[in-house]
Amino acid sequence: MQDAACEMLQAAVRRYWSGKPSDKAKRYVDAFFDATRIGTKIIAKVHGNHGTYTVSIHLNQQMINAACSCYIGKGGGCHHCEALNRMVSAIKLLRKVSA
Ligand SMILES: [Zn+2]
Repeated sequence: MQDAACEMLQAAVRRYWSGKPSDKAKRYVDAFFDATRIGTKIIAKVHGNHGTYTVSIHLNQQMINAACSCYIGKGGGCHHCEALNRMVSAIKLLRKVSA
């Protein structure tokens, strides 16, 4: 069950962010901590330039909803969300964090 949700999320994320990660996003990919997954939702924290941000990606009815607590990330358009998506592609990390 958990793995099916995980695979759906990964497939959707790959469709949503298909290009190469930006240099800004790359810096954050390995920096996430406190990552948790509940079904098709991933929440993780990362230290940014102005404090700690909470970043989430949620697959809801085949739609990706991304959000971040930084000042530009409300709708998911920031490099923290992009970085989290790159992390989602690493299945071993998802397995580790599954509740
Ligand atoms: Zn952000």
